[in-house]
Amino acid sequence: MALAARFDGFGTTIFAEMTALAATTGAVNLGQGFPDTDGPAEVRDAAIDAIRAGHNQYPPGSGIPELRHAIAAHQRRFYDLEVDPDSEVLVTTGATEAIAAAMLGLCEPGDEVLTFEPYYDSYAACIAMAGAERRVVTLRAPSYAFSIAELEAAVTDRTRLVLLNSPHNPTGKVFTRRELEQVAALCAERDLVVVTDEVYEHLVFDGEHIPIATLPGMRDRTLTISSGGKTFSFTGWKVGWVSGPHSMVDAVRVAKQYLTYASGTPFQRAIAVGLALDDTYYASFAADLRAKRDRLAAGLADTGLEVFPSAGTYFLTVDIRSIGESDGMEFCRSLPGRCGVVAVPNVVFYDDVDAGRPLVRFTFCKRDSVLDDAIDRLGALAR
Ligand code: PMP
Ligand code: GLN
Repeated sequence: MALAARFDGFGTTIFAEMTALAATTGAVNLGQGFPDTDGPAEVRDAAIDAIRAGHNQYPPGSGIPELRHAIAAHQRRFYDLEVDPDSEVLVTTGATEAIAAAMLGLCEPGDEVLTFEPYYDSYAACIAMAGAERRVVTLRAPSYAFSIAELEAAVTDRTRLVLLNSPHNPTGKVFTRRELEQVAALCAERDLVVVTDEVYEHLVFDGEHIPIATLPGMRDRTLTISSGGKTFSFTGWKVGWVSGPHSMVDAVRVAKQYLTYASGTPFQRAIAVGLALDDTYYASFAADLRAKRDRLAAGLADTGLEVFPSAGTYFLTVDIRSIGESDGMEFCRSLPGRCGVVAVPNVVFYDDVDAGRPLVRFTFCKRDSVLDDAIDRLGALAR
């Protein structure tokens, strides 16, 4: 039977394709962004303890109270944002479900969702699942700035919401206060709401993460998404959440009920423990990843690749034209055979394929020895 038309163009995700390629070729996988070491022992042990203590049945649909309270406390502690843990916080099955449920719960068929490209792949799929249409504004490499005129021109009478991502995957861009103010001003003027994906909120190396919800007038029109996967290096646990005004959180809750209803009881307990870790944890986590970014950036530059600045996330992008190549997709498909490394072609995150064609993303959330091995192998490109 044929795949439903709304999934036209959405086959296997690039992450699945590239991770499978790494597995079959034995290449070093710098494609899919997942750490190759576990997060904090006390968080892991809290999950084990929760399983042993019998916390293994369905959690409440909105998430266990301990976690909802820990999320509210986290928003206050880091951003001075007050959210009511009972009505303004909802736990989801990863940020992925939060994105899906937000699109399904907030969009009417035919609505437009305005987002920036390159965009995280599930945005396009979830917008399509909701019967909405995406409109994109291009972040132009290497600075990944956007044109405010293009942003204004992309808003139509059908625009329902702006889907934002900062720190941004795949570019590593961290939106500046000025950029966020421009988005906020447009939202106020055109009465738009914002759904903002901030899963890399604690992985900022240069500059500062500013949740758009903290800008004047934005708290009541912003739904903020995050996830424990990135912050605590347990990407397989899939504990995510949304916070924001009750009406928006409730729209997500209604959709979410019929997707998974609820998940991950013992992991929810453990992420609550993680969110309460002291500042030393958060600071050393970011410092560790910053050093990895620098290590990989230097290694890639040594092979002759032009490396764009990355201020946050797990990722950095290179322009392969610097080594005489032009097609990132072809480059990534041949890279395991040529030198035993897997990366991700950024073109899959673009509607404007010309803008994305020569760009390739590498992740640096791996052990130093793995990064060094990959750099060593990539040396074959220069030889
Ligand atoms: N948003 C972005 C920008 C991501 O990079 C990811 C990937 N991990 C997600 C959402 C999905 O997060 P989760 O694993 O919590 O579903
Ligand atoms: N967020 C991860 C990345 O960008 C991938 C997660 C997934 O495989 N869906 O690499």
